[in-house]
Amino acid sequence: MSVLVLGGAGYIGSHTVDRLVDQGQDVVVVDSLVTGHRAAINDKAKFYQGDLADQDFMRKVFTENPEIDAVIHFAAYSLVAESMKKPLKYFDNNTAGMIKLLEVMNEFDIKNIVFSSTAATYGIPEKMPIMESDPQDPINPYGESKLMMEKIMRWADEAYGTKFVALRYFNVAGAKPDGSIGEDHGPETHLIPIVLQVAQGKRDKLQIFGDDYNTPDGTNVRDYVHPFDLADAHILAVDYLRKGNESNAFNLGSSTGFSNLEIVEAARKVTGKEIPAEIAPRRGGDPDSLIASSDKAREILGWKPQFDNIERIIETAWAWHSSHPNGYDDK
Ligand code: UDP
Repeated sequence: MSVLVLGGAGYIGSHTVDRLVDQGQDVVVVDSLVTGHRAAINDKAKFYQGDLADQDFMRKVFTENPEIDAVIHFAAYSLVAESMKKPLKYFDNNTAGMIKLLEVMNEFDIKNIVFSSTAATYGIPEKMPIMESDPQDPINPYGESKLMMEKIMRWADEAYGTKFVALRYFNVAGAKPDGSIGEDHGPETHLIPIVLQVAQGKRDKLQIFGDDYNTPDGTNVRDYVHPFDLADAHILAVDYLRKGNESNAFNLGSSTGFSNLEIVEAARKVTGKEIPAEIAPRRGGDPDSLIASSDKAREILGWKPQFDNIERIIETAWAWHSSHPNGYDDK
């Protein structure tokens, strides 16, 4: 048995490959390296560079690795703001890519897929915390592209018996505690790495996008989860499918929300730096608050997140950014 990790050179994918290798599992990685980093992939994993929508390439990967029985799919574009400006890029890469992938998985009779979905599929939630059974009505093309992928998998299950687990993550932050792998996006758009770049003096100040949201301090509230814990959830989901369980969807979050202002405060405490910040206009596509109920993942998958403290999460991110001021280019 072997796991194929699509997008294994990316932020969450690389942490998952690392955890799989740690557990002694056989891992094959496919990544186009458009946004991922070769240096992020654990050396013990077998690596192929290419695009999962290239069916001949994927046929070669499956033919050369007949022991693959499960796929973990991280290989999607994931920036809300970019998706508002370039929706077709998201529907093409994310949604159409899923169709191409399922076709080839079907040809090779591979029936298990664990998929990185997102809290953005819920749109503007009616209540908090969000449950898996709540309505999914995205307010940005990124969330819509992933909801479409979930629906495509549902019908593929119905027709071909391809079993899936959709993991709907909330906001991800932090790095491997030893500082060897972490977050490196170019350009960086996410709150916590930007806050830390300000702390490092790489940016003058933080812009907080909007303070007139319907939240206690007016800034967006998000639920942060560590990639180490996300990696464990993916591995548990592979086990769940290998045991012959039915397709399912799980939220992955910490069940606690922090406002953007609270994140800046926590980062000031961790780094001891001033971190100048100003209020800027809304970015577009941001729901007021997103907080997960993760009870279902805990009960059914047996998921036990270890990083349940935001300062600890920021500390691990700070260790990575401090030791890699230029990301993987420092390796
Ligand atoms: N955000 C911000 N300034 C930035 C980057 C992000 O105020 O420079 C806000 C963003 O509007 C949202 C929150 O931080 O309210 C989290 O955004 P991020 O891009 O990190 O993750 P997303 O929620 O889009 O997945």
